[in-house]
Amino acid sequence: LGTSISRALQQMSNATIIDEKVLNECLNEITRALLQADVQFKLVRDMQTNIKKIVNLDDLAAGHNKRRIIQQAIFNELCKMLDPGKPSFTPKKGKPSIVMFVGLQGSGKTTTCTKYAYYHQKKGWKPALVCADTFRAGAFDQLKQNAAKAKIPFYGSYTESDPVKIAVEGVERSKKENCDLIIVDTSGRHKQEAALFEEMRQVSEATKPDLVIFVMDSSIGQAAFDQAQAFKQSVAVGAVIVTKMDGHAKGGGALSAVAATKSPVIFIGTGEHMDDFQVFDVKPFVSRLLGMGDWSGFMDKIHEVVPMDQQPELLQKLTEGNFSLRIMYEQFQNLLKMGPIGQVFSMLPGFSAELMPKGHEKESQAKIKRYMTMMDSMTNEELDSSNPKLITESRMMRIARGSGRQKKEVEEMFEEYKRLAKIWSKMKGLKIPKKGDMSAL
Ligand code: GDP
Ligand code: MG
Repeated sequence: LGTSISRALQQMSNATIIDEKVLNECLNEITRALLQADVQFKLVRDMQTNIKKIVNLDDLAAGHNKRRIIQQAIFNELCKMLDPGKPSFTPKKGKPSIVMFVGLQGSGKTTTCTKYAYYHQKKGWKPALVCADTFRAGAFDQLKQNAAKAKIPFYGSYTESDPVKIAVEGVERSKKENCDLIIVDTSGRHKQEAALFEEMRQVSEATKPDLVIFVMDSSIGQAAFDQAQAFKQSVAVGAVIVTKMDGHAKGGGALSAVAATKSPVIFIGTGEHMDDFQVFDVKPFVSRLLGMGDWSGFMDKIHEVVPMDQQPELLQKLTEGNFSLRIMYEQFQNLLKMGPIGQVFSMLPGFSAELMPKGHEKESQAKIKRYMTMMDSMTNEELDSSNPKLITESRMMRIARGSGRQKKEVEEMFEEYKRLAKIWSKMKGLKIPKKGDMSAL
């Protein structure tokens, strides 16, 4: 998605006469990209209509920064769509709050319940987990294991089959134990069916939750809107958590869930582990959805500080998308250089915060130099390949021996390589404006 939107905006900025036709072409391109990212068709159409109202063609024609104007308008519009206008209920410490989780089976409810509990526990809450899923065999064991790992009190039963009864007992007991964040995990069937919604309604009526959180798998695609709406119609959904954002899904379903539930997304799940959990932040999410993020700033910076004669070669490498170890080596060299080139490379997404976190520059530099020493022990074949499978166990051993490092350090270097290669591949095929074009904007 990122690339196709950037490309659409790029085409736009390369057009010399900007008129309605070009704007429409650009919007159509972005429409396609947003649909591919699972944003619901109706929402995309609404956005398109609004953008046309907002973007003033005369402004564009007057030669202001066209790309920026349109980009900003789309950005703002998507941010607005993710903001339902009212915050969700937030639990207060020391006062018992009941939070009920709903969603289809497999959406990530049980995992997310624990993440949510763990997140709040670290911030000083006293959470408790209640398993009101009597439908799925093993549901209680799953929650119990998760809870025990995080040392969170839990309540459930192997024999009781009435979810309402367990939920009520669990809530009562947790209150007696002075827990101030009582989390009720419910069952979810494979399909949206009457029995599931009836059960949810009953659990909700009996426990009177302060907040109902709808958990949605980000990979459900265009089904997001209908699914979210079906849950909202049965129980008073007040917040959304989108899971599996670490996978291939582009997350456009989040917009549908907000529209259907009129509730904000509060967290996203980014992995199977307890702390693969992030507070949802609208602006970075939209930046990512649009593929803007750091790239545009990075490009401006390249034109600003990289000597003209070095630009074509560098940009060529960036847009080829093939990230060999040799390219990583060269980029490390750049990163370690004093002055502007070093600065530019510290702006490269993936090279900056992760590789050289602020305040740890010394350690980071030492680490990068260590990686480079290991790469010095690699053959040309290894350096020029972008196939990680080439580097077998025995090659790793050889590289470790040759550079006087541990095999596990070599493995760490390859992990870093794979991580950077993934980010680098996003640059593939991107049309990068030449300096002249940029000033024409
Ligand atoms: P439930 O049926 O809704 O309770 O779903 P579970 O919590 O049992 O999760 C179903 C599967 O999704 C499990 O294998 C989880 O480990 C996995 N899962 C949940 N959240 C995430 C996430 O954010 N990322 C990834 N990669 N996997 C997740
Ligand atoms: Mg479950």
